[in-house]
Amino acid sequence: MSQAHNYRIQPSNPKAHLFKVELTIEQPDANGQLLRLPTWIPGSYMIRDFAKNIVTLSAEANGKTIASKKIDKSTWQLEPVDAKVTVTYEVYAWDLSVRSAHLDQTHGYFNGTSVFLEVCNQADNACSVEIIAPEGDLYKNWRVATSLALDGAELYGFGRYRADNYDDLIDHPVELADFTLATFEACGVPHDVVLSGKHFADMDRLCRDLKKICELHINFFGQPAPMERYVFMTLVVGDGYGGLEHRASTSLICNRGDLPHAKDGEKVTDGYRTYLGLCSHEYFHTWNVKRIKPAKFTPFDLSQEVHTELLWAFEGITSYYDDLGVYRSGLIPKTSYLELLSQVISRVHKGSGRTKQSVTASSFDTWTKFYKQDENAVNAIVSYYTKGSLVALALDLTLRKLSANKVSLNQLMKKLWQNYQATGKGIGETEIQELASELAAQDLGDFFQQALYSCEDLPLAELLAHFGVDLKWRAEDTATDFGGKPASQDCPTPYLGTRMKGNEIALVIEDSPAQTAGLSAGDTLIAVGGLKLKSGELNKALMNYMPNESVTIHAFRRDELMTFEVKLGSAPTNTCELLITDEEKASQWLDDH
Ligand code: ZN
Repeated sequence: MSQAHNYRIQPSNPKAHLFKVELTIEQPDANGQLLRLPTWIPGSYMIRDFAKNIVTLSAEANGKTIASKKIDKSTWQLEPVDAKVTVTYEVYAWDLSVRSAHLDQTHGYFNGTSVFLEVCNQADNACSVEIIAPEGDLYKNWRVATSLALDGAELYGFGRYRADNYDDLIDHPVELADFTLATFEACGVPHDVVLSGKHFADMDRLCRDLKKICELHINFFGQPAPMERYVFMTLVVGDGYGGLEHRASTSLICNRGDLPHAKDGEKVTDGYRTYLGLCSHEYFHTWNVKRIKPAKFTPFDLSQEVHTELLWAFEGITSYYDDLGVYRSGLIPKTSYLELLSQVISRVHKGSGRTKQSVTASSFDTWTKFYKQDENAVNAIVSYYTKGSLVALALDLTLRKLSANKVSLNQLMKKLWQNYQATGKGIGETEIQELASELAAQDLGDFFQQALYSCEDLPLAELLAHFGVDLKWRAEDTATDFGGKPASQDCPTPYLGTRMKGNEIALVIEDSPAQTAGLSAGDTLIAVGGLKLKSGELNKALMNYMPNESVTIHAFRRDELMTFEVKLGSAPTNTCELLITDEEKASQWLDDH
């Protein structure tokens, strides 16, 4: 049997944001062992070149230093030796996100993809990981949160953990801090809720509500759950949002104000609804993408981009079931769910990028487009999350309509899960389409051609009407009005066609009055109609004018003052509201899980 690789990791200098890692390889390649770090982390499709954060690296065998040489941006080659080798390196960790590593005197966090070098050609060997506490009184209350298997360490303690192989090793992020911890069981599986950062959260409520969501998703795919325990890790910050899924845990970042507070009672604030939706999303991924996954990801090639057209299914279907799961768990009412759904529809329709890029193209090009969005993204690309979730909705309603509600996306997902359990195989690029046609007992080729490969809008109004829901379009109030409720203004709103960050233009909508007048992203507006513009008050300033009236706008482009004559327009009709017209029909869809 091959011998386990031994990793020891310690926050060696938190104030300098440095982890020290020691890797011992019992039987290195006699021709010179190769070691490398991934260029990307599964679930986040961008080349991040984590090896750039390795600051120093040295190796020794038989008590003597041996040579190591960099052979490409992410790979080192050791001098050939016929003995056990220990490699010691330091990793700089100062990325406050769920994708890399972060360390200071308040907490430490790392993904294996940032800190654990792969022993090339021995990636199937088991791995032992010793997590060592930082030295000093400042850290005496730190504990360890991770879904890595215990191998001597006590639960939440420093010490030894293990992983089956390199793929397993890099799929269990680790949080080190004096964090808040609460636990609950869902369908018999222990779940930890770990919060790092200053917060005022009502932990009892959080556990109670998450338990409902977890049980819903476990029962959706069928018991037993595919993991022995699960960890929700959240870093609480003043302003932030994000999540990354793993096989038995998730890393989240959220706004302090989004967590439930004891004084909220049973009220679900908009912020808490967002947080629950995020938890529901990452938890659904435990099945959809962590296990059911594209054949192109089995195994992952972490040395370069891997292209798949399927992210609409893994992110889109997951996005469809995330908010729906919050509703079906009984945590929010139907009206609240329909408000969220109408906001997704509005978001997609506010960007003309949807007329230029299909969801499959968005998926394929995610590395350079979705993950590298600039100010023109709204005019150039479509999100495989939002549009993908609308494809999932349209597919669900189409299957239900064709089968008098006997077949739905639920069955399709369950079938994908059963197939995975039977074979462990990844799914081919068109396999979901074939399976859907099989379940519907008819060829859905035309549906998928339109939904996945064309840039046409989906027939949502017609499908929703069939299930007792009326989709109503109206003009937007402001650039950031995503609908879900009636317009807040009853007078016609003048339209400029920008989204702002303070007084700076963040983006310009194509063919809008702003673009026609020559205003551009990055311009700083200083006066509208000869009056000084206060920060964040563009809408208020524009309300002095009628749609189609002209106004002079002064702005700086870089340090040059420019004058723009703008003929304002009428707000576009791109914002929607969903209203139930037939409770019974709506319930056939909304309450069927
Ligand atoms: Zn996701």
